Amino acid sequence: MQLITFYPGPAKVYPQVAQYMQDAYESGVLSINHRSQEFMEICRKVIDLTKFKLNIPADYTLMFVSSATESWEIISQSLAATLNCVHLYSDAFGRKWYQYDKKLNPDTTFEYPFSLQDKPEPDYVSFLNPDMFCFTQNETANGTQVRMETIRTFRQAYPDALIAVDVTSSLAGIELDFRLADVWFASVQKCLGLPAGLGVFICSPRAIERSISKEGHVRYNSLSFIYENIEKYQTPYTPNVLNIYLLMRVMEQINVIQLTAGRLRQQAADWYAFLENFSEYELLINNPEVRSDTVITVKSSEPNIRRIKELARQENIVLGNGYGTWKDTTFRIANFPAIAPDEIALLKDLLSRHLT
Ligand SMILES: *Cc1c(COP(=O)(O)O)cnc(C)c1O
Repeated sequence: MQLITFYPGPAKVYPQVAQYMQDAYESGVLSINHRSQEFMEICRKVIDLTKFKLNIPADYTLMFVSSATESWEIISQSLAATLNCVHLYSDAFGRKWYQYDKKLNPDTTFEYPFSLQDKPEPDYVSFLNPDMFCFTQNETANGTQVRMETIRTFRQAYPDALIAVDVTSSLAGIELDFRLADVWFASVQKCLGLPAGLGVFICSPRAIERSISKEGHVRYNSLSFIYENIEKYQTPYTPNVLNIYLLMRVMEQINVIQLTAGRLRQQAADWYAFLENFSEYELLINNPEVRSDTVITVKSSEPNIRRIKELARQENIVLGNGYGTWKDTTFRIANFPAIAPDEIALLKDLLSRHLT
């Protein structure tokens, strides 16, 4: 029997993926050459569809990479390099990104850790003369989000600074204002409802220009080299063609982002209201302004957390483990588009019976 998973990544894949995988095999897509017309056609189609469904500006470039982690490194090497780069984060994923960058660019990488109940303030870092900011828009580790209004305050305070945003657990789930930043990236095994092994990397014209002037293609994953290839609907190396094909099929299938985001926002509000009914289990994030719409985190004692995860498992439901600091004292619930309303109803029924 297939488990119902609420893990926030790798997360539930769209059920249609089973058929799409079969179609990929039968149509011969799995063996096509990545310099062929057929591949270039798939690549063009998935880029056009993704831009349309997710409301990405026409002059932004969508590229394929292998993961969010690779995206961190590409940004460090192709964009941040000599810039004064400030990482704003409240938990583990944002911190990891900072640490990778710090190792590559030790003299120009700075951190601005903020409390998980708070939002960052532009004035706080002016003494660093920032040329670049890195935001983890949806912090998967604690279930917080940096809202578009907050990113806008940084854009307005530092109009010349580049802004890069990790949207791994929110891309395709919430409405993003892409004009507010220069780089947006995600891997596909979370909110996009696909198997792991592919990342999407979205750049403003300004980010592309900066990467071209900063370096030639010194590495296989230099941003300017990836860009040169995607201009021809190709990639520097043989990419994950199956996953690119699956992304194309999922993009054909899903609603435009306005509709999906509306549904998820309502579902998240319902989850938060529901989870306020218990005393031994409480929401990790008290401040509604910074609560995530796509990852919900519930806190309790270690034995309580272990108990509810086990009880769920007995009913074939998988709750997400806590992450990092919160490993043993929280569980997480993904509110991703691939999760069906009847699955949410089943989990709510289970939690109503067992939470106190
Ligand atoms: C999962 C996650 C990552 C890492 O993704 P990989 O595909 O393992 O590289 C990075 N950032 C955030 C916010 C994540 O949730």
